[in-house]
Amino acid sequence: MAAKARVDALRAAGRSITDFTIGEPDFPTPPHIVEAGVAALHEGHTRYTGSTGTPALRQAIVDKLARENTLHYAPEDIVVGNGAKHIIYNAFAATLNDGDEVIIPTPFWVSYPDMVAINGGTPVIVPSAAAQGFKLSAAALEAAITPRTRWLVLNTPNNPSGAVYTESELQALCEVLMRHPQVWLMTDEIYEHFVYGGARHLSPLQVEPALTARTLVVNGMSKAYAMTGWRIGYGAGPRVLMKALALLISQSTTCPGAMCQAAAVVALNGPQQCVAEGAALFAARAVRMVELLDAIPGIACKRPDGAFYAFPSVEALIGRITPQGKPLQNDVEVMLYFLEQAGVATIDGTSYGQAGYLRVSFATSMEQIEKGCAQLADAVAQLK
Ligand code: PLP
Repeated sequence: MAAKARVDALRAAGRSITDFTIGEPDFPTPPHIVEAGVAALHEGHTRYTGSTGTPALRQAIVDKLARENTLHYAPEDIVVGNGAKHIIYNAFAATLNDGDEVIIPTPFWVSYPDMVAINGGTPVIVPSAAAQGFKLSAAALEAAITPRTRWLVLNTPNNPSGAVYTESELQALCEVLMRHPQVWLMTDEIYEHFVYGGARHLSPLQVEPALTARTLVVNGMSKAYAMTGWRIGYGAGPRVLMKALALLISQSTTCPGAMCQAAAVVALNGPQQCVAEGAALFAARAVRMVELLDAIPGIACKRPDGAFYAFPSVEALIGRITPQGKPLQNDVEVMLYFLEQAGVATIDGTSYGQAGYLRVSFATSMEQIEKGCAQLADAVAQLK
C-alpha cells in the first residue's frame, strides 16, 4: 500500500512511472460476478448479514474447500471476513497473549509481523535461504519453537518469493508440528490458483489431516477472482477459534458487505474458467519477466513457482556507483535508484525480511513488462 502511494504521488507530480509494485490482478472482476453484485443490490442484499457470513456463502466455501482442496468442513467451521487480511488479524487478536510467539519464515507478506505485534505477540522471524528456494526447513522450524510459540504462519504459494511447498516439504514441517501440540498452524493459501511449470498447490492439511483441530486455513476472493476491492476473505478452522472470530467481527465490523457476499457465492459456485484464464495469463508473463530480468547483468532471477511476483537478487548491484556518484548500499537504495533513474517502481526485499532482493510484480501488461525491464536494463547500464 505504501509503494502504491509512492507511485501515485510521483504520477501526480507528472512523472511517468512503470509500476511493478502491484499486488492485485490487473484485470477487472469477471463480468458474471459483477452482474451478480449488481443483481444482489436490486434483490435487496443491502442489509446486515450474520457476522460469520451468509449461509449461502458459507456453504459455497464448504463446497469449494471440498472440491478444490479435498478439505471437509461444515458451515459452522467457516467465518467470512472483510478480506483474508481481516481473518488473519482477528485470529491473532483472538489468540495472542502478551509475549506469545508467532513463527514467520522469510520472506514474508509484510503485514504478518505487524499484525502479530499490534496484538501483543512477538514475531519470530526465521530466515530461509535462497538456496532452499526460500522455504522453511523442518530443522529451522524445530529450532524456532519454544513453549511460548502459538502459531506458525505458512504462506504457499508465497508472496513475495513465489515459493510453493511440495508434499514432502509440507510433510516434514507437519511432522515437527505434530510433536508440538501448543503450536497452531495458519496456512495462507490466497495465491493457490497461480502455480506455474510443474508446481502444484497443496494445503498442509491435505498432507497431515491430524493437524485440522489446530489449523486455520485462510483464503479469499481477492486474487483468484480479481475481487480485491470487494473485500471478501474467509477462514476455516476449529469451532473454538471460529466462535472467537465471530465475536470479534460481531463487536467490531458486524459483517462483510451483503452484496459482496452474494457476488462471492456466484464466483465460487459459477464457472471457474476465469480463474484458469487469469492463471494462464500470469504464467506467460512470469516466463517473459524472468527472462528479461535475468538477462540484465547484476540481476539474477529464478522463475517463481507461484503467485504473481518475480523475486530477483540485486546483490551484485550493491556497491555499484550511480551516475550521481552515489554508491548503492543495499536493496532499498537499489529500489530508490530504479524509481528515480528508470521511473520503475519495485519493492525492496528488506520490507519482506529478505535483504538483497526486489519484488517485481507481473500483475501488469506484457507491454509494461517489456518497457519496464528495458528501463531497468538501461538504469543498470549507467551504474559504474
Ligand atoms: N495474504 C497474502 C499473502 C497477500 O499477499 C494478501 C494481499 O496482498 C492477503 C493475504 C490479503 O488479501 P485480502 O485482499 O483477502 O485481504
